[in-house]
Amino acid sequence: MSAQLSDYRLDGIYVQRQSGFFMQRVKLPAGVVSAGQARAIAAVAAHFGQGTIHLTTRGSMEIHWLKEDDLAQVKRELAKAGLTSRGACGGAVRGITCGSQGVQGFPVLESLARRLHRHFTGNPRFERLPKKFKIGLEADSASGRHLIQDVGLVMAKNEGGQSCYDIWIAGGLGREPRPGFLLFKQVTEERIIPIIEAILTVYAAHAPPPKRLKFLASEFGEAKLRQLIETEDCFGDKIPPVSGLTDNLITEADGRQRLELPVFAGRLTAEQLTTIAAAADTYADGVLMVTSDQDIAMLLLAGVDAVVQRNTLQLLTGLASYGFTNGLRVCPGSHECRMGLTATIDLAHELVAQIGAQGRKLSWAVSGCSNSCTQPQLADVGIMTARQSADEDGQKTARFDVYRRIDTGLGQKVHIGLTKTELIEALQSIE
Ligand code: SF4
Repeated sequence: MSAQLSDYRLDGIYVQRQSGFFMQRVKLPAGVVSAGQARAIAAVAAHFGQGTIHLTTRGSMEIHWLKEDDLAQVKRELAKAGLTSRGACGGAVRGITCGSQGVQGFPVLESLARRLHRHFTGNPRFERLPKKFKIGLEADSASGRHLIQDVGLVMAKNEGGQSCYDIWIAGGLGREPRPGFLLFKQVTEERIIPIIEAILTVYAAHAPPPKRLKFLASEFGEAKLRQLIETEDCFGDKIPPVSGLTDNLITEADGRQRLELPVFAGRLTAEQLTTIAAAADTYADGVLMVTSDQDIAMLLLAGVDAVVQRNTLQLLTGLASYGFTNGLRVCPGSHECRMGLTATIDLAHELVAQIGAQGRKLSWAVSGCSNSCTQPQLADVGIMTARQSADEDGQKTARFDVYRRIDTGLGQKVHIGLTKTELIEALQSIE
């Protein structure tokens, strides 16, 4: 990889599948974005891209179809709105995620996500890492999302303004999925940043590119990895929680309703996002959230009815419900991603047309390659494009693995190497 492409990655830019085009990812701590920032992203997509925005499972927004000559101006336009992409791709601490936006304690999680975002984003001590480094916060362990992070923080207590977290580390998906392990229980907030710094220092010192932290857990074993972390100089430090007013944009729900607007495959047009931002200004204190299912959510003002507002927004935007009540996560696949082995959005349309009523009540995820960006191992039904094989005419066709998650860990493979016809047949009557 050239130095320039490596620098582009640190600025949150990937080369797109289509020659001459680039994707810009925008970091949104805990998936929270102001309506003004959303409008800025929509304006960039309309002016410099092809007017589309992709919502990711990690709460980021991506703008595709950018030209290289425009990248510097795109960065300036995003910076004007207080947005950054630094470290959104490449070997850096990626966007801080939170899949618990709907819980009572979310403002505390959002505050910590913003603090971690401020501390690690653009910090040269934690850039040019062997590979990506993902941090995620959760209110509890039910979703299993803490198991797939390099550092997963699960809130253990939140009393009297003091919160503490269980720290899980060295998880990850990809070709060799590995669930994270519990490093420490009930760590107070003042120790969180020093411990993550110690983990990052060990990772940078011992992991060869392009390996993730999970490689060290496999190579060294959990006990040695823990011992290396504990002997780092910064490990025992304490950094007091930020005093004074907090900067979370979402406040306690206090009985207010949350509106979730389903966005098929996380695809929005600039016009749709602008319309949603206007509704957030009027009905939701000017704040939006990108959910871990690639939908858009907002916490409505007191007295505003979520069903009425969702119906209105669906009429205004044309974002219809597609009938998968627990989510259908879909990555860009070969539509835009260089790694994609199949046209994921086309496949998702087929699933919507073919899957029966029982199956539609499950959570689904479709990934265009083994990188598993939609986390198929955490869905009730996960479809991963595992490889391509050539048929008799030399035509390449995708082969799919299917995962089912039936307990609290990662899903297990139940089908291997299916053709698309076999895949649809296998899933049509799933329950
Ligand atoms: S799963 Fe693969 S194809 Fe899909 S976005 Fe990630 S890298 Fe691209």
